[in-house]
Amino acid sequence: MDTHGRIVDYLRISVTDRCNERCTYCMPEGYKGWEQKADHLTADEIIRVVRAATGLGFRKFRLTGGEPLVRRDLLEIVHAIHALPGVDVIGLSTNATRLAPLAASLKSAGLRTVNVSIDSLDAALYRRITGGDVATVLAGIEAALAAGFERIKLNCVLMRGVNETSLWPLVQYAAERDLPLRLIELMPLTKADVFGSATFLSVEDAMRSLGEYDELIPQPDARIGWGPAKYYRMPKTGALVGFIGAMTTEHFCETCNKMRLTADGKVRPCLGDGHELDLRETLRLNQSDEAVREVLREALRIKPLEHQFRTNYAPCRPMTAIGG
Ligand code: SAM
Ligand code: SF4
Repeated sequence: MDTHGRIVDYLRISVTDRCNERCTYCMPEGYKGWEQKADHLTADEIIRVVRAATGLGFRKFRLTGGEPLVRRDLLEIVHAIHALPGVDVIGLSTNATRLAPLAASLKSAGLRTVNVSIDSLDAALYRRITGGDVATVLAGIEAALAAGFERIKLNCVLMRGVNETSLWPLVQYAAERDLPLRLIELMPLTKADVFGSATFLSVEDAMRSLGEYDELIPQPDARIGWGPAKYYRMPKTGALVGFIGAMTTEHFCETCNKMRLTADGKVRPCLGDGHELDLRETLRLNQSDEAVREVLREALRIKPLEHQFRTNYAPCRPMTAIGG
């Protein structure tokens, strides 16, 4: 539990800050981050953090990045985390461009849930936003479905004038496959042109825009996974659509259940607050799990009541280096 009475049992682990895509809202122009770096935690170090974290009650772990599938030892990491007592669920956040050949092995290694980012089904627009090829993402989603993961969710970042017209096709696509779709407000994590107020699309406006196609029926009891989305059913298609309004929803942080570990071994108690505690030195100088737990406890102690995106957040490291 943190000092604000929230149960924090979810650790998002960035296994790399590298990525094979270049999303405009995540990866600043010119960002290198291509090579595996010495400052990145090794697989063993990541596994030690997870083992220590289970001793503090952490039960859910998500591997993210950067793009986690660019890391060659990812399967070993999943396998080793899965074998640890106290780990309930391992999830993956991915752009899915490299998922097709890996989905079945990841499932066998113990991965239970997959979140796939897809901001548009339109190939040209997808390329404009991410630099990548949407056909590879769609192949990744089909492979994930075939592998039989417990849960697959689709994530789309809302951008006015960019992918607004992609939302309804995405709803239909998700409904056809019975996958929850989550629509996420853009957060000012990186310095980039996309963060002008003209591009910001609130969840309220996205709901209004989707409301032109179908009704949105609130599902107050729907809790799919561990995320902060508020879900609605769209009856014409049967789609389940979640909205994550980190920027405009009051009391958004009241139910926050997570902390983050960056690829270079910093514990970040809150995505929208620059405070970080170094864990890498502890891992490299001290072999005991208790020393690792001490840093995690301190991170829980300083976990703020709420993010600072609406007040004085200063973009420091980009999202890709924090671990989304
Ligand atoms: N590469 C993987 C992916 O794209 O899913 C995992 C890492 S990515 C940083 C995790 C999530 O963060 C993605 O769903 C992405 O859309 C989201 N994201 C990145 N930058 C964001 C921003 N500025 N505002 C809102 N969501 C963002
Ligand atoms: Fe890469 Fe994911 Fe960031 Fe896009 S959102 S640049 S896919 S890490």
